[in-house]
This record gives sequence, C-alpha cells and structure tokens, in this order.
Amino acid sequence: MRPSFIRLCWLMGLLCGGVATAIAVTAVAVQAQSTSAVVLMYHRFGEGAFPSTSIRLDQLEDHIAALQSGGHTVVPLADVAAALRGERDLPDRAVAITVDDAYQSFLTQGWPRFKAAGFPVTLFVATAGVDAGYSDLLTWDELRALQTDGVTIGAHSHSHGHFPAMSADVVADDLTQAKASFVRELGHIPALFAFPYGEAGQADLDMVQAAGFAAAFGQHSGAAGPLANPFYLPRFALNESFGNPARFRLIADTLPLPIASIDPLESVLTENPPVLTLSLINPPSNIVALTCFGPGGTTVTSAVDAGISPGQIWITPEQMFSKGRVRVNCTLPALGAGQEGRWHWFGWQMISGFETEGVPVHARYQ
Ligand SMILES: [Zn+2]
Repeated sequence: MRPSFIRLCWLMGLLCGGVATAIAVTAVAVQAQSTSAVVLMYHRFGEGAFPSTSIRLDQLEDHIAALQSGGHTVVPLADVAAALRGERDLPDRAVAITVDDAYQSFLTQGWPRFKAAGFPVTLFVATAGVDAGYSDLLTWDELRALQTDGVTIGAHSHSHGHFPAMSADVVADDLTQAKASFVRELGHIPALFAFPYGEAGQADLDMVQAAGFAAAFGQHSGAAGPLANPFYLPRFALNESFGNPARFRLIADTLPLPIASIDPLESVLTENPPVLTLSLINPPSNIVALTCFGPGGTTVTSAVDAGISPGQIWITPEQMFSKGRVRVNCTLPALGAGQEGRWHWFGWQMISGFETEGVPVHARYQ
C-alpha cells in the first residue's frame, strides 16, 4: 500500500491542495477537524439466539446514548470514504454506522432506533439470499422502503462466500451477479462494498476496485485513517460479547496509527506464523509502549524501532495460527492536549489454510 500524494499532504499537514486546502484550513478555525473515523459494524439486533452476531437492545441504546453525549459526529459512510481519499474533511471523533446481511431485525429493531437518533446507516446486502427470499432476510420491497427512508444500501457480494477460497473467475462472476441484482431491484449499483467475513486477498481487493466500487471494508478492528488501503478499510465488530459500554466508549474514540506499509501485504498467508512488519510515518514519541495481541487475546511479541525513519514494528506470533481467520490488534495510548483517554488502534486480519479445489489458495496469488 502506497500513500497517495494527497494523502501524504494531508497526513503531513502540508499545503498541497490549493483552494480546497484553503477552505479546509479556514474550517479548522471554527471546528476541530480530523483525518480519521471509526466505522462500527452490526449484524442482528435483539436476537439472543445469535449472540456472536447480535447486539442486545439495551446495549444498542447505550451505544446511541454514548455517541450522542460523547462529542461524536455520526457521518454517512460515503463521507468517510471520500475523506480518506482526501476529498473532504471529517469532524473530530467522526463515527460511521454499518450493518451487514440485511436481517429482519434491522428493520424492526435497529433502524427505528438509529433513525430516531438521526444517525445515517449503510446496510451491506448480499443479493443471492434476498433474491431467494430467505425468511430471516429483508425482501427487496423492504430494502427499497428502507432506502426511501434514508438507509444507504451497500454491496456485500452475491453468494456471501469466502472470497479467498473461491477462484478468481468465481469471484468475478459473483460480483457481476450482485451488480445485476442491484440494478434490477434498486436501479443502481451501490458505491461501497463490504467483504463477506472481512476475508480478502490482494486479488479480491483488485477485483472489487475493477468492478467499479469506490471503497471496500473488512472486519478487522481499528480506526480508519488516510494511510489505510481504501479497498480494505477496518471496522469494529459489535456483538453481545464486544458490545459492553466501556469497550464501546473506548473504540468510538480510537485513532489510527500512521502505518504506511504492511509486510506481508497479502493477508492470505503463505507462511504460518508470519512475521508482520509495519512501517510508520512520524511514529508517536511513545511508540515503544505499543502492545499487540494475537488470536484469543494472546500477547504476541512486538519489537519497535522508533529511532529510524520511518519507524518500524515487527510482530512475531509465538505459535502457528489455526486454520481460518486470525487477527492481530495493536494499541497505544494517544498523546497530546485533548487526547486524554484516547487510544491508537491498528488491527489486521489474516487467513490461513484455505484451499480451493484441492489447490492451496495462495497459489493463485503467486
Ligand atoms: Zn455478512
């Protein structure tokens, strides 16, 4: 991932953008601006039979109250994507709300509460299940009504399959089918995409970009900043276990780390365990306090060299990752006036051990 010129200008605070920058500088005088946002991800609402993907209604109402009272501004997800491309500013403590999979409980429980709070929401829809009329999913009529009511519809593939376990041809065909369903039922193709399970190799990111989407999201934790890959942006997952009030307030206030590159960039692993090398631009002066956690909250060894430019972090898992999705999360206390209690948060999701048609999946990336 290479930062664009505009993103670098933005990060470094340089005056590179002519009139647009002049307007932005003027705006700074009246309202604190930010180059990052926190994107939240929900699935089901008040469905206690599915605690790993559902949020309790009392938890959801606490989240909404926290956003209303915590100095946050809930913005449309498209504004976040545009800001990360350097096309607009965001308010300080910007938060965007996303919901995946179009379950009925979004219509009956989630949306009425978000709407009453005046919060914009993007709903990522996988089209095959809706086309098939699955009973726990919204219908196209209901999705059209939600769109009229202010919900932004995003794309979430057609099949909701595991992209890294699918051949490139199957992924391309899936994207074509999803776009056709959206055009047929909504009259347009959504601008934003979310990978099923947050799983994507570099080839999948490239195909989603080539398919015409403006940005794409995974399911790795972390604040989204201007150096992040716009086709693999982080989101914080919220469910009954991870939806408690203290954690919610912590994640809603998080800031990104200025990570300019990740090695290996390919999240479909060819080595297990991998050594992750993160390169930072202008690392915070307390970078040696960075703490990283591996799967299940296990501590992973992280070594930091902030004495070189750019600074580098090496993360070494202490044991092999198990098959499937594995995540590493790194946190660091934020410094500076007005940042008390805030944390930088970088998360990364990797995939190990998938195979397709008897061929190790990474073969298609070689
Ligand atoms: Zn999904």
